[in-house]
Amino acid sequence: MIIMSDEKKTSLESIGEFKLIDELTKDFKTHHSSTIYGVGDDAAVIQRDENTVSLVATDALLEGIHFNLMYTPLMHLGYKAVMVNLSDIYAMNGTAEQITVTIAASSRFPKEALEELYKGIKKACDIYEVDLIGGDTTSSVSGLMISVTAIGTAKKEDVVYRNTAKENELIVVTGDLGAAYMGLQILEREKSVYKANPNIQPDLDGYDYLLERQLKPEARKDVVKFLKELDVKPTSMIDVSDGLASELFHLCKQSNVGAQIYDEKLPIDTAVSTTAIDFEISPTTCVLNGGEDYELLFSIKQEDFDKIKGNPHMTVIGHFTAKDSGLYLIDKQGAAIELKAQGWNHFNEGKNA
Ligand code: ADP
Ligand code: MG
Repeated sequence: MIIMSDEKKTSLESIGEFKLIDELTKDFKTHHSSTIYGVGDDAAVIQRDENTVSLVATDALLEGIHFNLMYTPLMHLGYKAVMVNLSDIYAMNGTAEQITVTIAASSRFPKEALEELYKGIKKACDIYEVDLIGGDTTSSVSGLMISVTAIGTAKKEDVVYRNTAKENELIVVTGDLGAAYMGLQILEREKSVYKANPNIQPDLDGYDYLLERQLKPEARKDVVKFLKELDVKPTSMIDVSDGLASELFHLCKQSNVGAQIYDEKLPIDTAVSTTAIDFEISPTTCVLNGGEDYELLFSIKQEDFDKIKGNPHMTVIGHFTAKDSGLYLIDKQGAAIELKAQGWNHFNEGKNA
């Protein structure tokens, strides 16, 4: 291979995704003052006019890494590929306006399959009011890849970054967490049963909520609107794509703070708790290390608490502390458990990105 020499090589598993991105991009200098914020947040921030910015985010989904076509309908996949990207625009407190879509498909996929994929993309565009404005189409040696770039906008003063949280601010998460991960466990279980005996029909009854959260997630456009209506500007924000622990770790690291969250406060749907227990997994583990919830995790000033108190879409789960205090989960017995940044790492887990 051309890239090999005698020097010692670093495997991608050992370095991890985030350190790899840091190292690959560290020597790039900015050439344009319009580049307000580049690598490191959910979306890049570009000056549009005096008071307005553009937001740009890209995420790709690969067959065998992010999805398995044995149980993922192509229409759902198209929808999800758009959601994953819109979620990053909303995580900047912005409005998504356009998408581009790039697909690479092997000869195994007929035109009709790609039409199904595009039905899902169209549905997402219609519901979320975004315009498909271009992309690229290529063949692939094996499998399907879909990469979406989302473009959005925000008033410059409204943009919320990951690196602006302060000690004592409240940590808030939207919706509930862990359901998409449990949905994946159900689908994987039924896949194994089917592989062992193709005559057995999959038993997916009663798991509607979990399956929907895995196969057809919704990005939280509504939350950006609610926050404006409540007159709350988060002090930091990120979307929950890789699990709560990993996202909290990003906010803490980039904002130079520590955090304490409380197990008893974590928003978990009863379908997640009961199914997790059947699978002998702790529901808290699903929340912390699952992923693909596409909820928003943000912080607010203490004085804004009254504005969100009792809001059915938002739960206060803890607060930021001094950096030296570290990152802890307080369990139901009151014991402090240190959180490690796990999340998904697609180089060593073979899942998600
Ligand atoms: P998210 O989970 O919000 O989509 P990622 O973890 O994928 O974010 O990426 C983190 C940051 O690193 C983002 O700002 C993203 O644009 C940037 N990034 C990711 N991969 C690359 C790459 N190969 N080259 C340059 N920047 C990258
Ligand atoms: Mg993100």
